[in-house]
Amino acid sequence: MYCPRRFALLTLNLDWSENAFVVKANLLHENVHDGSHSFSDKRKAVRSAVTIYNDLPEYDLFGVTDCVEFIKDENGTEIPGLQGKYRVVLVEYKPKAPKDEKFHATDAIQVFAQKLCADHVWGCDSEAYLYYSDIRKRVRLPFDTEFEKYDNIIKKLLSEMREILEKGDYPKREKGQKCSGCSIKDRCFPKDTSYNVRDIVMSQKGVDDV
Ligand code: SF4
Repeated sequence: MYCPRRFALLTLNLDWSENAFVVKANLLHENVHDGSHSFSDKRKAVRSAVTIYNDLPEYDLFGVTDCVEFIKDENGTEIPGLQGKYRVVLVEYKPKAPKDEKFHATDAIQVFAQKLCADHVWGCDSEAYLYYSDIRKRVRLPFDTEFEKYDNIIKKLLSEMREILEKGDYPKREKGQKCSGCSIKDRCFPKDTSYNVRDIVMSQKGVDDV
């Protein structure tokens, strides 16, 4: 959702590099996934780094959550390994909140994918939150009222991603694409056509100037 070209470079070309944003997010997730956030009390059980999936053909998703809270609720669902019934709450940690909106759309769609998986695995209707660590605030995601909207977005994205994987094409940089925060911007050469750095330099400067 952030950039189709980035998706292709990461998955087809295995390009990778880190910038400050990536390192900050990695540190935050290492902290959340280290097991110290898992606990149980009378009211709830909290688990971090839970593997979930949805193998319905229209989704075919697999991933690992940051944090799942199972909150005791007699109207909830039974969870294997826990006694009683529970409401399921997903919490995804992100380092930086947006300035003008409640949440980043790209963050929300990631959590929506988690919801599809959690609901599939536990037969529930999970609630979902983003936790922005810079403002130390949870933001509730509107999946209960806008399920269809997010479902349409994720199905479209999945179909575009699968098309990229099947065709092996690198999409061109989209008009208006914001690249300043992209960790692989230095590697984002025009890889959809073969090129030669020497030829590019020569055509720009002229042989005599080089
Ligand atoms: S530099 Fe820009 S166009 Fe290239 S992969 Fe990153 S976000 Fe996409």
